[in-house]
Amino acid sequence: MADIPYKIYLSEDEIPRRWVNMKAVMHEKPEPIRNPSTFQPITREELEQLFCKELVEQELNESDLYIEIPEEVHNFYKMFRPSPLVRAYCLEKILDTPAQIYYKFEGTNTSGSHKLNSAAAQVYYAKEQGLTHLTTETGAGQWGTALAMACAYYNIDLTVYMVKVSSQQKPYRRAVIETYGGKVIPSPSDETDVGRRILKEFPDTGGSLGCAISEAIETALKTQNCRYVLGSAMDHVLLHQSIIGEETRIACEKYGIKPDMVIGCMGGGSNFGGLIAPFVIEKVTGRSDMRIIGVEPASCPTLTRGRYTYDFGDTGKTTPLLKMYTLGSGFIPSANHAGGLRFHGMNPIVSKLYHDGLLEARAVEQTDVFDAATVFARSEGILPAPESAHAIMAAMDEAIKCRETGEKKTILFGLSGTGYFDMAAYMSYNSGNMVDYVPSDEDLQRGFEGLPIVPKL
Ligand SMILES: *Cc1c(COP(=O)(O)O)cnc(C)c1O
Repeated sequence: MADIPYKIYLSEDEIPRRWVNMKAVMHEKPEPIRNPSTFQPITREELEQLFCKELVEQELNESDLYIEIPEEVHNFYKMFRPSPLVRAYCLEKILDTPAQIYYKFEGTNTSGSHKLNSAAAQVYYAKEQGLTHLTTETGAGQWGTALAMACAYYNIDLTVYMVKVSSQQKPYRRAVIETYGGKVIPSPSDETDVGRRILKEFPDTGGSLGCAISEAIETALKTQNCRYVLGSAMDHVLLHQSIIGEETRIACEKYGIKPDMVIGCMGGGSNFGGLIAPFVIEKVTGRSDMRIIGVEPASCPTLTRGRYTYDFGDTGKTTPLLKMYTLGSGFIPSANHAGGLRFHGMNPIVSKLYHDGLLEARAVEQTDVFDAATVFARSEGILPAPESAHAIMAAMDEAIKCRETGEKKTILFGLSGTGYFDMAAYMSYNSGNMVDYVPSDEDLQRGFEGLPIVPKL
């Protein structure tokens, strides 16, 4: 077989023309989304009050394995795709491992992450529907940036509720969003009922993703011709992110690469779910027995220590109810530097696959993650996002195991983005001031106490 290049780039023609829908092959489907007032499975019409019509269609689609990518979205993708599949030769050398390591790098666009894959699709559908305004939340800022980029492209107004600590820690991230024309409001704010309520109860809070979601939803419902869009957690977002996995699969097939394991970091589960989608299909249909490993922060241990139950997606308890692994919508994780991984819940497909034993999960601590990020930056040259570094760490651990056992495993991981706006985190790490915070069982119990009691159907 020919040598594998450092970077495998597909051609523009090879950018996939379809997304893949894992739900179509799952033997048991995730349980339906429920209406939070009636507890009944939510209807299409109810979801359409909040989300764009076509996205609701995709959210509820359990039968089509492939969903065609609209021509306009495909053209947008050409601005920043295909993304490279990189053979980590330099990292392999530093680790002195017989393993072959590959990573799919999604950080080559200005948002610095995979988020643009879904933003490009979501704003297109909003435009098609004749909407003029969108609201959203952003934690670490990547989603807000990606959405602002897509809104600029399609000429749609955007309001971004940005988690307050994050807007303070990352003023440049905010400036990027504003450069693309997005309006940024630090959350909790006094511009919404829910924001005012949270501020009254917790005046010093730095905010959370769950709280910013509540504010964005409230504003969407109160604004004409406006809908709420979100950058993770829901099935339609995973669907769009499957472009990552499809490109990876095509590149692997072209070069005869057969991963023994696929690893990704998990916040709401979208980059992980997107990367693994084609591999899950192979696994579910009995064509592969590869290991699939999701990595989360020990400070927000949704899969490894959460409960599998119905919960809200937001602190204000306003979203439809999703059956998922959750720490409770009232759980506010500590100020971890991987802002994009601080979500209390997990996408329902990823949750179900994990529950059924098709995936593994592990939780890792922050300083170890930054150790790995630093080794990676110094060997591969790319300064990784702290979120992505969770996957790097697990991949390195697996490669080190291979060094010990002599096994020549092929390890593939998702490098979801770059960390150029996370220098406060790197500074804290470099100065030795970074701390690890792992919630106690009592901390988690407080989150579980707020879980809604949802009757069986
Ligand atoms: C948002 C983000 C994540 C986490 O979100 P998922 O939906 O779990 O993918 C991970 N990495 C980066 C770089 C992000 O921006």
